[in-house]
Amino acid sequence: MPEPHGHLFHVELAVEQPGDAIVLALPVWTPGSYLVREFARHVEGFAAEDASARPLEVERLDKHRFRVASRGAPLARIRYRVFAHELTVRTCHLDGSHGFFNGAGLLLYAEGRAREAHVLEVVPPPGWRVSTALAPAPGGRDPLEPAGPDTGGRWLFSARDYDELVDSPVEIGTHELAAFSVHGKPHAIALWGRGADLGRLAGDARTIVEHFAGFMGGLPYERYLFIVHLNASGRGGLEHATSSTLLVKRTGFFPRDAYLETLGLLAHEFLHVWNVKGLRPAALVPYDYAREQYTRLLWWFEGVTSYYEELALVRARLADPQRYLKHLGEELTALARLPGAAKMSLEEASLTAWVKFYRPDENSPNSAVSYYQKGELVALALDLMLRGSGSTLEDLLRALYRRHTDGGLPEDGVERAVAEVVGRDNARAFFDRHVRGTGPVAMDLEPVGLTVKRRRAQAFDDKGGTPGKAESGPQPGWLGASLGSGPKLAVSAVREGSPAWRAGLYADDEIVAESGFRVDRAALWDRLCERGPQGSLQLTVFRRDELVQVPVQLAEPPEDTLWLEPVETPTDAQRSAFEAWCGASLPARGVAR
Ligand SMILES: [Zn+2]
Repeated sequence: MPEPHGHLFHVELAVEQPGDAIVLALPVWTPGSYLVREFARHVEGFAAEDASARPLEVERLDKHRFRVASRGAPLARIRYRVFAHELTVRTCHLDGSHGFFNGAGLLLYAEGRAREAHVLEVVPPPGWRVSTALAPAPGGRDPLEPAGPDTGGRWLFSARDYDELVDSPVEIGTHELAAFSVHGKPHAIALWGRGADLGRLAGDARTIVEHFAGFMGGLPYERYLFIVHLNASGRGGLEHATSSTLLVKRTGFFPRDAYLETLGLLAHEFLHVWNVKGLRPAALVPYDYAREQYTRLLWWFEGVTSYYEELALVRARLADPQRYLKHLGEELTALARLPGAAKMSLEEASLTAWVKFYRPDENSPNSAVSYYQKGELVALALDLMLRGSGSTLEDLLRALYRRHTDGGLPEDGVERAVAEVVGRDNARAFFDRHVRGTGPVAMDLEPVGLTVKRRRAQAFDDKGGTPGKAESGPQPGWLGASLGSGPKLAVSAVREGSPAWRAGLYADDEIVAESGFRVDRAALWDRLCERGPQGSLQLTVFRRDELVQVPVQLAEPPEDTLWLEPVETPTDAQRSAFEAWCGASLPARGVAR
């Protein structure tokens, strides 16, 4: 990183005994993020030489591979640069404030040599430190020691093989580092960006690590690192076997609800240590960095992880159960408003992640379902079914983890394990409906003292999860368009079959007036209430650069806003079942937040 402002990582790769020729390749994707990202488009200045600095011939084979004619030299030294100016958890970023990389975007592998041990040396600009979950190599400084001895800027790490190398992202800079220990194993948080309380985050991260250590029965690694990046508006996480990267909003630490979302993200990525890393889809064993790999099981790995992300916060007493019930109501509402859920199964959502989930567009709500969102609710339904048979979803997760850590989880592995608990017919019926089929999620919440309630939306941004206001006054007419969150009143999606759909309102239309008068969100909602289900709107919209009139005949609003409510007089059995599930008491009725 001689000139960080130029966003170029300078990489040197030494291959011992390369033989007559060696093919070097950069991955096209990085595990955990199912999109072909074509990292090789950022590679430049590729050249090779032998140990005596004599040039070796290089042939570019295709978009991501290079063939080096090493002609029996004992060593091939390859140099190249990688442009790194994309700040996400899956890419590489280098500027005057820090460097961050995922190995898949930066480090070539030698075909046929990826199983061998690798050594990584990072040479940072003066005054910068290096943090990664890789173990320090002999003579290297420990990256998890905030005040370790300075070894003169030598940061040397060893990786068992290429998989471990690229599964260990590296943060380089003047970031803060907080260390803590759980079960005697070192953990740390490396924080890039100003404006967060790292001490508080480290304390709560320790609580979450302790929770999952108890939940899964120990910690299956020697050291763990959370890399946290602060930014203005983006949010995302990427899991690794012994680390994770979290991109968090700078405002994600206050108020409490925003902070709990940050902790939820941290809990989610951490649980992946077991669920998708330790226990991996067999279809992804070994990783093939050159092309897409397909599994029908992403709903299990992301849905179940999302389910425990929220539940863990309640069980670890970081969040109250009221918040959790509100969250579940919001998820049920989002799914009820999604026409795509009736068209795409969880299996199909998993298989098509590469072209659907990771490439959403305005038609996604009408054509697709998220294996995170529906997967979380199906995980809840499965947990409730297993609890009815004296088991739990965490029993199932632990059993699958023990059974399939080596070869990976077969495509039918979850269903077979469920069948052992509830019988083959019940398991098949559950998977036909929820995983292979597109029927609504059927869950029996009565044993844990809850019922699902429905009502109409009471505002454009009514996400459900609460009973809402007591209904009074005129009933609003239904439009069926989602509005973006920006200052302009832009349509983000039009629900199939809705009045807006029938009237020919389009995604990206910018609503500027109704009946000739300027409207904002609040005024447009008032017009819906004023006109009612039998009324109409006379919308004026900018479509691309043209002003267009769109009359809309409104309709009866659907009852697509859901929330969970404790039953009126819970029995002792319901109370104790709720407590066994959430680790907290069943809330009193009407204490919605
Ligand atoms: Zn995940």
